[in-house]
Amino acid sequence: MRKKIVAGNWKMNKSLKETKTLVKEIKKEVKHLHLDKNVRVIIAPPFVNLQKASKLLKDSKIKVAAQNMHQSESGAFTGEISAEMLKGIYIDTVILGHSERREYFGENDEILKAKVDTALKNKMKIIFCFGEVLEDRKKGDHFKVVESQIKHALFHLNSDQWKRIVLAYEPVWAIGTGETATPEQAQEMHAFIRELIAERYTSDVAEEISILYGGSVKPENAKEIFSKEDVDGGLIGGASLNSKDFVSLIKSI
Ligand code: 13P
Repeated sequence: MRKKIVAGNWKMNKSLKETKTLVKEIKKEVKHLHLDKNVRVIIAPPFVNLQKASKLLKDSKIKVAAQNMHQSESGAFTGEISAEMLKGIYIDTVILGHSERREYFGENDEILKAKVDTALKNKMKIIFCFGEVLEDRKKGDHFKVVESQIKHALFHLNSDQWKRIVLAYEPVWAIGTGETATPEQAQEMHAFIRELIAERYTSDVAEEISILYGGSVKPENAKEIFSKEDVDGGLIGGASLNSKDFVSLIKSI
């Protein structure tokens, strides 16, 4: 049965002190929830706070992920972090392809494909993000754009490797804007993606893949979005930065 996931992408937010507070709050709340056994909760704090967060969550069901990593194994890449370094602090999940990485740090399909390969070579799991910009949607190109992003970065993988992938559809026009895709728009895209995977691989592979929605998910709209057949949870930005909202989203799954 495919997993339901609520993942918090903290982006460049929270100092060490704030990380400790937020992690402890979330941990305490989640402990009292009777989560289904196919539900996963993930948080992705900034690099420097990963180790502390994962130590605090050692005896909890909440997993810790990194927000990025470099495609090379090691070398002269000032300011970058490798898969091996993440594994070294017991972080085995990484978010790749976030639209902010694509837009502000020039991460294109080729770079992302290399990152995917490096992560998988290091036995990591990947939350792979993609999504169209507003202009694409206005032109009616959103399916084409998403198809191309997924194909370029992931369609060289074999079925076994897909077991380590979670997809996150994040329409760029809905990220941090307060404007959410309607539940129907999310469902339509997620169903399209699942179909793409079924065509390229098998319906079994497609059925097993968790596809998350991201973009202005909040306690007020989460239930309806998460209730859609092909929406298996959310990748949450703003609302993952306070325990009340984040826990409310976990309860909505
Ligand atoms: P918001 O929830 O703040 O719109 O961010 C979504 C996101 O980018 C998660 O990766």
